[in-house]
Amino acid sequence: MGLQEALQVLYPPQCISCGAGVTSDFGLCGDCWRETSFIAGLVCDLCGVPLQGEDSERTVLCDDCMTIARPWSQGRAAMLYKDNGRRIVLALKHGDRLDLARPAALWMHKVARPMLKQNMLAIPVPLHWFRLFRRRYNQAALLSSAVAKLAGLESCPDGLIRRRTTGSQEGRNRDARFANLRDAFAVPERHRKLVDQREILLVDDVMTSGATFAAATEALFAAGAASVSVLSLARVAKDA
Ligand SMILES: [Zn+2]
Ligand SMILES: [Zn+2]
Repeated sequence: MGLQEALQVLYPPQCISCGAGVTSDFGLCGDCWRETSFIAGLVCDLCGVPLQGEDSERTVLCDDCMTIARPWSQGRAAMLYKDNGRRIVLALKHGDRLDLARPAALWMHKVARPMLKQNMLAIPVPLHWFRLFRRRYNQAALLSSAVAKLAGLESCPDGLIRRRTTGSQEGRNRDARFANLRDAFAVPERHRKLVDQREILLVDDVMTSGATFAAATEALFAAGAASVSVLSLARVAKDA
């Protein structure tokens, strides 16, 4: 018996979501897989939401992205924020389930492939310092570093910082969400050289209205970034 098999006997692989036995490591059991809306096929090129129609080479946008200013150039998401996708995001955000970052990064890396460029720099959306203190880690930073590793990209976990307290986005309508986040982010002085003229992969756990990505993208452009592409684990879709 090799080490790998010995470990499998000691620690039989479990579904990363519900803990049921599965046949391979870092996967979901059949039930959780069916309850997770992984995004595939034709997607909006700016936010990654799935769209009706055949997947093709042409660029298509969803209704939101045609009407809301999206300062970044491309965007993708691995799953919809509902059912098990929602449970996975919340477990990563609030639970002590750091182990979810690895499989999540695998799914994100897969959907990010069409946007990836050599020499891209991965930067996560930052948590506010008091939330970082309370929660002890930034799930977006975990995801960003894990995706960067898989894609062979450089990563800068503190390439963006929060300039001020923005309060929760919950309960605010779309316009209020965008207003609340204006000037909320900045590239710290010590990382300006790194970001200048660079193509950036901006990473977060969830994309809702896109207000956070928009504000963070503007901050990266203000620091001289050449382009920004956004990647989220889960996309909140209106009719999903
Ligand atoms: Zn399961
Ligand atoms: Zn879109």
